[in-house]
Order: sequence, then structure tokens, then C-alpha cells
Amino acid sequence: MAESVPAEGPVLTTESLTAGYNGVVAVADVNLSVAAGEVLSILGPNGAGKTTTLLSLAGLLPTMNGQVTVLGEPVDTGRPYRMARRGMRFVPDDRGLFPSMTVNEHLRLARRRPDKTRESMVFDRFPALANLQSRTVGLLSGGEQQMLAIAVALLAEPRLLMVDEMSLGLAPMIVEQMLPAIRDLAHDEGIAVVLVEQHVGLALAVSDRALVLNHGRVVLEGEAGALLRERDRVESAYFGAGEFADDESDGSERQSVL
Ligand code: ATP
Repeated sequence: MAESVPAEGPVLTTESLTAGYNGVVAVADVNLSVAAGEVLSILGPNGAGKTTTLLSLAGLLPTMNGQVTVLGEPVDTGRPYRMARRGMRFVPDDRGLFPSMTVNEHLRLARRRPDKTRESMVFDRFPALANLQSRTVGLLSGGEQQMLAIAVALLAEPRLLMVDEMSLGLAPMIVEQMLPAIRDLAHDEGIAVVLVEQHVGLALAVSDRALVLNHGRVVLEGEAGALLRERDRVESAYFGAGEFADDESDGSERQSVL
């Protein structure tokens, strides 16, 4: 089990989170909060600062300024095992799996203790994995690998799950199955989930709230259903009004992100 933590209050908060690389700011003044059972999507164009934000939330990148609090305590940068012990799981965009190990070996390593109920819950959520237990990860499809990455995180009984670009390299049909599965496990099990996604429409459809980053700043945030209905606001936050206008001026039509 994860360490005992206060049951009330947000699972994750930031106050003026500012982070970057080699002294150069990549994201600035990000304020967010995620409650148990809630899905927050972080959206934005390439280079907007989504992964940087997620790495800072996970304690994998030191903040330059501001504060990240997970389950009532400041994030312990540089000691990810401590955050893992507190119930945080981070699924990177490369999924963090070992190609020569089998599905079953991953699941055995991931579980905190033998727990048949937990294991069958994982197979109920991702039935395809049950028949692939002896297969090595390198031979799994992208979607199967993503299922395994989430299953590995789930076996650790997380309170906070962060997933970077889950849909990277996956066929749209698989993304359409995986994203609702993430929403269901957040809502059913009370896990706070932070998703970084390029599939804006799908992400909004499965999220409770979302924020759009552009050039390292939060330029739009709100309830996901409302944002889904305010297509124009999301589009201009995503592209930035100036860039959007430039593209229209050369006669080309910018592809919608929704
Ligand atoms: P993408 O959707 O393309 O993955 P992103 O929104 O996740 O983009 P980040 O990867 O967070 O964006 O990058 C934000 C900024 O930080 C970019 O300008 C990027 O070039 C820069 N950056 C990212 N990683 C590093 C690094 N390791 N060293 C220096 N600069 C970096």
C-alpha cells in the first residue's frame, strides 16, 4: 500500500511552478490542482512545455521557482522512489518498459505484494494482456505496450498517475479505446490523473478539466466539457492568435486540433 496520506484536499497542486533547463525557463507560473478521481489534461503545441511541466510535477526535474505539492507534501526532487512510495506513478512517453522481458515479468516486478484481486482487476481493464503474459515486450504492438505500461502503474495502487503522450505512435482507434479506459480507472478508483496529450478533442472528451500551454504559459484553462464546446477559444489558445492569423494570410488552411 502507498504511505498513509491525508484523505482530504487536492492530490496535486502547484503554485507558480517555473521550470526549465540550464537556467533557461521553459514553463512559468503554472498553477494547477488535481483532486482524487479527477482527470486533468495538459494540452498545447509542440514545445509548449507540457513534458517539462509533467517532469516537474513528478519530481524528475527541479523547479526553478514555485512549489509542487503532492498529497500534502512538497515534491521530493531527485528522489523519485520517495514519490513512488507516496503513491505517484509516472508513465513516460517511451512507456518505460524492458523489451526483452515478458508481460508477466513486468507485472510480477510491479506488484507491491501478491494480490489476486488487484491482478484480476488489471486484466479486467485490459483483457488483451491476459493472453499475452508470456510474450516479450519487444513483440507487443504499441497499444499492447501502452496497456502494459498503465497496468504496471496500476499494480502499484497509485493515488496520482501521470501519463506523458499516451497516444504517441498509436493508431487513432487504439487511442479511442485507451483514453476512456484511463478516465474510467480515475473515476472508479479515485486516482488523480494528469494526461499530456496531442489528441486535443479526445483528451477533452475524457477529462474533467484541461489547461492549454503555449510558449510555457497557461493561456487557457477550464472545465473540459465547456472547452470542448468553445472550439474557437481552444484553437486560438493552442496556436496563438498571431500565428493563426499568419497561417491564414498565406492562403493555407490550418488543420483543426479538435
Ligand atoms: P512536445 O509536444 O513537442 O513534446 P512539449 O510541450 O512537451 O513538446 P517540452 O518538451 O516541455 O514541450 O519543451 C519545452 C521547451 O523546453 C522547448 O523549447 C524545448 O526545446 C525545451 N527543452 C525540452 N527539453 C530540454 C532539455 N533537455 N534541454 C534543453 N531544453 C529542453
